[in-house]
Amino acid sequence: MKRIQIRKAVAYLAVMSLSLGAWAGTASAAAINQKMEQPLWKDQGRPYYRIKAKYDDRKGTVHGHLSVELPKQRTEPVRELYFRLYPNAFKKWKWGEASKPKEPGYLKVGKVKVNDVPAHHTVKETVMKVGLSTPSLPGQPLKVDMEYELKIPKGGSRLNTFGHTAFLAQWYPMLAVKDRDGWHTEPYTATGDPFYSQMANFEVTFEVPEGYQLITTADDRAVPAKGPITLRQAHVRDFAAVITKDYEVVEGKAGSTQVNLWYLKGMEGIAQELHAAAVSGMQFYGKHFGPYPYKEVDVVLGETGYGIAGMEYPGLVTSVDKIPTRKGEQPAVSVVVHELAHQWWYGVVGNNQVKEPWLDEGLTTFSELLYMHDKMKEDERDLLLRAAQRTDEIHQEQGVTSVEPLYKYSDPIYGLMVYIRPAAMLWNLSEKIGKDKVLDILSTYYKRYQFKTATTADFIKVANEVSGKNLRPFFDKWLYFKGTSGKKQTSGNQR
Ligand SMILES: [Zn+2]
Repeated sequence: MKRIQIRKAVAYLAVMSLSLGAWAGTASAAAINQKMEQPLWKDQGRPYYRIKAKYDDRKGTVHGHLSVELPKQRTEPVRELYFRLYPNAFKKWKWGEASKPKEPGYLKVGKVKVNDVPAHHTVKETVMKVGLSTPSLPGQPLKVDMEYELKIPKGGSRLNTFGHTAFLAQWYPMLAVKDRDGWHTEPYTATGDPFYSQMANFEVTFEVPEGYQLITTADDRAVPAKGPITLRQAHVRDFAAVITKDYEVVEGKAGSTQVNLWYLKGMEGIAQELHAAAVSGMQFYGKHFGPYPYKEVDVVLGETGYGIAGMEYPGLVTSVDKIPTRKGEQPAVSVVVHELAHQWWYGVVGNNQVKEPWLDEGLTTFSELLYMHDKMKEDERDLLLRAAQRTDEIHQEQGVTSVEPLYKYSDPIYGLMVYIRPAAMLWNLSEKIGKDKVLDILSTYYKRYQFKTATTADFIKVANEVSGKNLRPFFDKWLYFKGTSGKKQTSGNQR
C-alpha cells in the first residue's frame, strides 16, 4: 500500500526544511507460463479455490459459493481450519471516524461442508474456525465448501463501492496461513496492510448485471460481461476484482506483458502519461529484478479508501491519478510505480505483512525511488537521510525498530519506520557496495523466493551471500537500531 501522507510529508520536509515531526500527522517466466496453462493446477501443491460470485449492483452485494481444495501433500493431520473474513472489519468500524465507511459491510458465511459433510463453524470478527469431525490425514483429499454473502461497504478502505463500480478486495473467505508459528489469525488493523495469505490457484466465475466489465487478477482482456464468466489464475496469493461500468482503458505492452491502465472520466490526459509510466516501470523492474511471471497487469486509477493512495494485489494495482508534490499536484507516477514494484515484493515473493511489514514496503519503496531516480531524474537521497535521522529519534523516544509487527506502530510513525528507513538503508548500501551489487541481491532474492514466503533473515542471508561480506552489523544498525543510543530494545526483534 501507499498512503498519501507519506509523500506529502516528504514533500513538505523538502519545501519547509522542517523536521519529520510533521508526520505526527525459480523457474523462468516461460516455464511458469507453461505451467499455468496446464489444467492440473490442484496437483501442484497449492490450495485450489473455486469461487462462484453473483454481483447485485442495486444492493451492493455478492452472493458466493466457495470451494477450496487443500493440497494432499500435508505434513500433519488437519483437525481444524481457519479462514479470514476480512470484510467483517467494516461491520463495526473500530479505527476512528476519519476512515469509517459511510455504510458498513460484512462477509456472512452460511452452510459449511467439509468433504461434502456439514461441518461446524464459528466466527469471531474476521476469523472463522471450521472444525473437522474426523482429522484429515496427509494424503487424504480435503475440500471445504461454503455459501457466503458479501455486503460491500460504501466508502470502505480498499473494499469499496462508488458510482457504478465495486472494488472487491479480500472479498471472499480466505484460507488463513499455517506456518511454523501456527495459524495466523491476527486481528485486522487500519495501519498498513493487515493481510497474510499463501500462494494458491483460482477459478472464479462471475455473474454480473449487463453492461458491467471485469478487471481482475486474471488475464481478462476483452471479456464481455454477458452471462457467467470464468477466469483462472495460478500462482497468486489473492484474487482481486473491479466490477464496473465507469472505466475506460489504455492498453500497451511491456515486453510480452500486457499493461492495461483503467481510468475514469476526467482523467483522460493523465491516463496516457501514467500508462507510459506503468509500461516503463514494468520494464525497469523486470530488467533489474527478474521477469514478471504473469501475462497481464492492470492499473486501476481512483482512490479506494481514506488516505490510501494506492494498493497492490496480484496482477492488479490501484492508484490515485494525482498526488501532491513539492512542485504542486502531479500525475501519480510514484504511486503507480510503487504499487507495480509490489508485484515483485509481496506478489511473487511474499512475506508476512503483519509480522514484518518492512520487508515488502521497504523493498518496494526502494524500488520506487530507484525508478524515480533513474527514469524521472528525481533525487531524494538527502531527504531520505534526514528521514532516517528522524527515525533514530523515534527509536530513542519509543524503542520501536523497523522490524516489528503492524500493531507496534502508531499511524504517524509507520511510514517512516517501515517504508522510508529501509529504503534509506538500501540506498546507503548502494553507496557502500555499489548499486549493481544491491540489484544482484534483489534479483537473487527474487529468484530464490519466488512463489514462496520470505523473512528478514532470508533477505539478510541472500545479501551476505551475494555481497560476499558480513552485512549483519549493517542490517542490525539500520533495521534493529543496534548501536544507536536507543531507550530500549523492544521484544519485536525477530531475526
Ligand atoms: Zn506499498
